[in-house]
Amino acid sequence: MSSEFNKEIKSNKQYHPQMHSAEHILNQTMVRMFDRGRSFSNHIEKKKSKCDYHFDRNLTQPEIQEIESRVNDIIQQDMNVSEEFYSKDEAEIIFNLSKLPDDAGDKIRIIRIGDYDACPCSGQHISHTNEIGTFKIISTDYNDNVLRVRFKLL
Ligand SMILES: [Zn+2]
Repeated sequence: MSSEFNKEIKSNKQYHPQMHSAEHILNQTMVRMFDRGRSFSNHIEKKKSKCDYHFDRNLTQPEIQEIESRVNDIIQQDMNVSEEFYSKDEAEIIFNLSKLPDDAGDKIRIIRIGDYDACPCSGQHISHTNEIGTFKIISTDYNDNVLRVRFKLL
């Protein structure tokens, strides 16, 4: 990738690799704690972001603290963030590709965060988790089987 191309992505205010990488860690943490899947919808911005999950209730305060603690633990372990490419057939066996568009092509890009998370993604990420900063949940709410988690980075 040329440096010109990198510059272009960085100047795009909509895109924030730290936030986006934090979203990957949050999703894996939600999967491990509650086993209800990754967020089905999200809105990622520099100042604050939100992720929506199919759920059956709001989170308790101890659960919110547990999520923050686990996410920050992964950040502080300074895990390596790397990309791998799989054929679509291989990827389908290992990963959930339901969120990928049908025209995603035959090479599937997987973003791996240390030994903690791996998921298909075409976005831009940081290269080590300690670049993310400190993860903080602003609020959660629950409506019509959807849990919304709002978070920021300090
Ligand atoms: Zn990503």
